[in-house]
Amino acid sequence: MRPEFDVVSRKWSRPRAICIAAAVAAALVLLVLFVRSRAAAEPPRVAFSELLRDADRGVVAEVVVKGDQLDITHTDGRIVRTIAPSNYVTANPAFVSEMAKKGVRIDVRPLSEASAYSYGAIVLGLAFVGMLGLTLYRVTTGRIPALESKTRTADREASNVTFADVAGVDEAKEEVKELVDFLREPGRFSAIGGRIPKGILLVGPPGTGKTLLARSIAGEARVPFLFASGSDFVEMYAGVGASRVRRLFKDARRHAACIIFIDELDAVGRSRGGASLSHEEREQTLNQLLVEMDGFAPNQGIVIVAATNRPDILDPALLRPGRFDRQVTVGAPDVRGREQILRIHARKVSIGSDVDLRQIARGTPGFSGAELANLINEAALFAVRSNRSTVEASDLDQARDKALMGVERKSLQMTEHERVTCAYHESGHALVAALLPGADPLHKVTIIPRGRALGVTMQLPEGDRHTHTRDFLEAQIAILMGGRIAEELFLRQMTSGAGSDIERATDIARRMVCEFGMSALGPLAYRSAGNASGPDRGAGMSEATAERVDDEVRELVMRGYETARQIIARNRAAVRAMAEELLVVESLDADAIKAVIAQASAPRHGADVQASE
Ligand code: ADP
Repeated sequence: MRPEFDVVSRKWSRPRAICIAAAVAAALVLLVLFVRSRAAAEPPRVAFSELLRDADRGVVAEVVVKGDQLDITHTDGRIVRTIAPSNYVTANPAFVSEMAKKGVRIDVRPLSEASAYSYGAIVLGLAFVGMLGLTLYRVTTGRIPALESKTRTADREASNVTFADVAGVDEAKEEVKELVDFLREPGRFSAIGGRIPKGILLVGPPGTGKTLLARSIAGEARVPFLFASGSDFVEMYAGVGASRVRRLFKDARRHAACIIFIDELDAVGRSRGGASLSHEEREQTLNQLLVEMDGFAPNQGIVIVAATNRPDILDPALLRPGRFDRQVTVGAPDVRGREQILRIHARKVSIGSDVDLRQIARGTPGFSGAELANLINEAALFAVRSNRSTVEASDLDQARDKALMGVERKSLQMTEHERVTCAYHESGHALVAALLPGADPLHKVTIIPRGRALGVTMQLPEGDRHTHTRDFLEAQIAILMGGRIAEELFLRQMTSGAGSDIERATDIARRMVCEFGMSALGPLAYRSAGNASGPDRGAGMSEATAERVDDEVRELVMRGYETARQIIARNRAAVRAMAEELLVVESLDADAIKAVIAQASAPRHGADVQASE
């Protein structure tokens, strides 16, 4: 069995030796380069009389004078060096003028220039090598203050977040409440022999308030909050992470009671035994964390709270009793939770009287606490941009559309034909969504490019959805097909714009067949049906089954296509009216869409429908 605890300091000697070797090698290379450059720069030596002779022959282009040393450049580019008789050039002013007359350029340079450059370069080079060696040494030994500790400590005063600031996670709050009593009076618990968990693992998707919850425990108990992120511990150099873990716990021990919070625990706590590059470093760090967790007494007053959204990949050693043996799920908030979260964040801005936060909570299914906090902030920014001092319902609507559909790209230049195509495409989606029973209600249709899409048809469920019925999924496929069909029927064209719709429809159909058991193939899970070249195709299903899966997927998509085609063909006038309206106003909300469909379906438009087909 692999030893669980490694003696980390044993590993110091290797990186240290590597640093010293690297610095010595760099210094040697620098020296060799210097000597070689000096040797290479030395031109061949000739007699002084040759200079005079060559100057007479007119083959000398330039003479560089450095004291008595003259470097001669010939007209053919050849460079030679000669030494003049002592003080010949300075004592003989006629020499310079004579040379100039013969067309020779004279360049007099100070004596020390060359050597000053060379020695300057070597001193700089050596200083650089020295600094490089020192830095490497200090990084590998974790002795650079800025790198050493990335722990952020919030002191008692700063940690003023309380349970009142956290909403929508009532069960999780209940679970951690007893910690507050323990942290306030650790002695009371040990007196009756109670055992409080050393480590609590908060499990949940990003932005659901795990950090906030941990902070609020510290705030309620009025103890310091030490924050570190798992990714801070994962470094290139072996040993740095482990030294940071040591320092974090050393910091913690200085306080009578405190909370250590480790965000993204999975970054450091992945199962050991992988073959990745940073594997050795991570293993050392994880071992150090385990050692430290075991190293303090249960009733010392230190509680470690960690957060992750991947508990499945954590090393089992982390989850053993005495370590992170209590898991608390922090899930996405439901509609009531969302309303409470919105209320908490709305307190920070000035909200207009027309704003109904319950309505907004209903229209933001699946939003996490962080997304809701961001929604209020974005709405406040929209209000400021419109020179208003209160946030109105329209600001929140705009902020929600931005969060749901992406940022408007008004600057994107579309040709008129592209706009028309987009208007019909979106109208096709919208009409099928409006008329198909079982589909989510429409929220908005727009042909203003948003995010990566040229136009968007947005539906919003009435309540929170946790499961989907077969009817709902089939309706979803039909709605996705609506765009392509509208283009085909009205513009007699196909465009690449339907690519992502087709991909999503196929994906839904494939999951219906392979995961949800909603086809003639029965309630079985079929693995990697979509990945024909995948390694586990054989393990998942046979060649013949794969073919049947493909047939079923095709059948589901084509059925959706046919449903959508019939709806659009029966309501051509409504699609046309919607597209024309979109080309003028660019966005239609749910009420406007209903009005357009109702008006276009009125009997007097019947003749128009016939004529346009
Ligand atoms: P996580 O740690 O789960 O990724 P955070 O705690 O960092 O999420 O949440 C980020 C921000 O989102 C918080 O500072 C807070 O403003 C807001 N937030 C998230 N969840 C909640 C919640 N349940 N109640 C109130 N605010 C929340």
